[in-house]
Amino acid sequence: MFLSVKEMEVRKVRFEETFQPGEIDFSADAVNQASPLRAEGVAELLANTDGEVRIKGRLSVTMEAECDRCLGRAQFPLDAAFDLFYRPTAALAGEAEVAIDEGEAEIGFYAGLGMELEDILREQILLLLPMQRVCSADCKGICPVCGRNRNETACDCRVEPADDRWNALRKISRG
Ligand SMILES: [Zn+2]
Ligand SMILES: [Zn+2]
Repeated sequence: MFLSVKEMEVRKVRFEETFQPGEIDFSADAVNQASPLRAEGVAELLANTDGEVRIKGRLSVTMEAECDRCLGRAQFPLDAAFDLFYRPTAALAGEAEVAIDEGEAEIGFYAGLGMELEDILREQILLLLPMQRVCSADCKGICPVCGRNRNETACDCRVEPADDRWNALRKISRG
């Protein structure tokens, strides 16, 4: 859905959209969309600014990625509000060095006649995903000895301390 600044000059643009998996491209991000994405909100042109747009709303979706520990599926149900500000890139060119106020953390830029809602949602979803992607907080991961998924099969491999320096240190302290 294109959010047209021309239209915002006349009225606030409300959106209430559902995007099925595949409609927004996450293929470059190592995540999949596992449920319909719902987004609703309003885009408005702020008065007395040089074309600054505020987009406020809420999104909910379940994303899926490979678990960092066991390589199984990790699901991330997201449900979050957003409140974003966008300035035209033309305004950026005008000011050689733009000092962005500390209070305006969420400033983005748009080029041309507006912005695609899909691009905004994709960016917000990627920001909402945790850095460490695990299927559950107590995922036991893959056994480094036998390679089995320890969530599915308990193995009795002994994991020896990998670092010999510890053993060397112990000997020194005993001696
Ligand atoms: Zn896992
Ligand atoms: Zn094992």
